[in-house]
Amino acid sequence: MEKKTEATVKRKKGHYDMFDSSTVPDDLCPIATDIIVMRTGEWRAERPVVMRSKCVKCATCWAFCPVQCIEEKPLWFEADLSRCKGCGICATECPHHAIIMVEEKE
Ligand code: SF4
Ligand code: SF4
Repeated sequence: MEKKTEATVKRKKGHYDMFDSSTVPDDLCPIATDIIVMRTGEWRAERPVVMRSKCVKCATCWAFCPVQCIEEKPLWFEADLSRCKGCGICATECPHHAIIMVEEKE
């Protein structure tokens, strides 16, 4: 019978406290379950620029962004550039051609 620890109780509830490694169950990879702050924007070659007058806030870019870094502003959507990795998917998928990719300068 499984020993009832705080970790097993949390696992049964489907909740893991990511900052406390003692709560990560033995059957999960500890590396994959650790929080690593990924600043994916640091190695970007291009950045998306939203032409605000063309954005109709349809949220297509938000739905397609693989790192979920598109944020809603009062009248448009735009990327959080600290996490945007510059893949250009948002620009390709925007049905209103409101996003262009521009080269990052050093
Ligand atoms: S997909 Fe284009 S039009 Fe839609 S919210 Fe994003 S930038 Fe705006
Ligand atoms: S360029 Fe890629 S990572 Fe950046 S906002 Fe667009 S879809 Fe997201």
